Amino acid sequence: MLPPPFDYVSPKNLSEAIGLLASRGEGAKVIAGGQSLIPLLKLRLASPSLLVDISRIQGLNRIEESGGSLRIGALTRIADVEASAFIMEHYPIIHDASKVIGDPLVRNLGTVGGNVSHGDPNNDMPAVMLALGAEFVAIGPAGERAIKAQDFFLDTFTVALNHDEILTEIRVPKSKQRSGGCYLKLEQKVADFATAGVAVQVTLAEGGECEEIGIGLTAVGPTAIKARKAEDWMRGKASSDSRTIEELARVAAQEANPLTDIRGTSAYKKQVVAHLVSRAFRNACERAEGAS
Ligand SMILES: Cc1cc2nc3c(=O)[nH]c(=O)nc-3n(C[C@H](O)[C@H](O)[C@H](O)COP(=O)(O)OP(=O)(O)OC[C@H]3O[C@@H](n4cnc5c(N)ncnc54)[C@H](O)[C@@H]3O)c2cc1C
Repeated sequence: MLPPPFDYVSPKNLSEAIGLLASRGEGAKVIAGGQSLIPLLKLRLASPSLLVDISRIQGLNRIEESGGSLRIGALTRIADVEASAFIMEHYPIIHDASKVIGDPLVRNLGTVGGNVSHGDPNNDMPAVMLALGAEFVAIGPAGERAIKAQDFFLDTFTVALNHDEILTEIRVPKSKQRSGGCYLKLEQKVADFATAGVAVQVTLAEGGECEEIGIGLTAVGPTAIKARKAEDWMRGKASSDSRTIEELARVAAQEANPLTDIRGTSAYKKQVVAHLVSRAFRNACERAEGAS
């Protein structure tokens, strides 16, 4: 199907882009890589009157550590994240997710900012950012603000950005000593969206106890889910005890609220979550031990 007609502008800088979004009201929509938005337009599930293409704005495509944070520019392509040796070494959980998003064509155009701003519970980066305790930096007519990942995903396809705000950067707390993370996703076929996905980030104490933990779940609720009960339950417990890990997986799976659909029943998906939590937790701990 062809998309409905729309106006198109390609502003040179952020203030021009924000001005356009503010003056055209709710009918204007940001487009970055177009990998989520264009399919919606073609299915006529969205019909903006104006597309504000931010892909040519300079300075929003970078990966760097500064000020105690990893900072990923919103326009950084998924493929650039996947190819980053720095991300692979210090933030392997982000690398894990980047390499299972769609196929190379999608990853070459799709951006990290678009992946989270779309608010699709089936997208892979939101759960990772919840596990990592990331912050999203947005700029709009009223200036800049930072939104915690846990406050960002409001509902399916609804995030905490105002219509005239642009996400500029994702900030992840700098990786600590004895920290590691892992993202695992079950997909029915290569390049598919997740049946379920799990992100686990841990920091271990010298004695092996789980000092800090973040858990995010993909495709098992109306938004990506932060598994707070499982996180709270696990803090301070021995990370290598099999029964503890089994219980962690059970508690996390109870926080999933998946729909029955073509990818499986709700009960099956909860079992997948439990299995993936147990595996991702063990991998995250191994990586944390290796990082010490
Ligand atoms: C065949 C196919 C397979 C896919 N498989 C997966 C998959 O397995 N996992 C996965 O996670 N995703 C998958 N996707 C979805 C897609 O890859 C991601 O969502 C992509 O990262 C979106 O980024 P984008 O730059 O293309 O966003 P766009 O499509 O340009 O925009 C998406 C939404 O975000 C908004 N937006 C974008 N950037 C900003 C910004 N900086 N500030 C404010 N709002 C913004 C837009 O207004 C729009 O609402 C797939 C897509 C396709 C076509």
